[in-house]
Amino acid sequence: MKAKVIDNLCIGCGACAALVPEEFDINDNGVAYAINKEVKEENKELAKDAKENCPTGAINITED
Ligand code: SF4
Repeated sequence: MKAKVIDNLCIGCGACAALVPEEFDINDNGVAYAINKEVKEENKELAKDAKENCPTGAINITED
């Protein structure tokens, strides 16, 4: 599973980083990014929750 943040949709609210700090962080531009190339097995459900809870739909998750 891969997570990706669509930069121009992210408003930098920090919700994803607060929910799954091992997978999401906020960069120097105030935009979230996915830390790992592949979402860790133990973080998959939380990463999906982060996607569902992102207020702007900026998180994309693919299952490959
Ligand atoms: Fe950006 Fe969405 Fe994360 Fe908020 S929850 S920081 S809008 S990706």
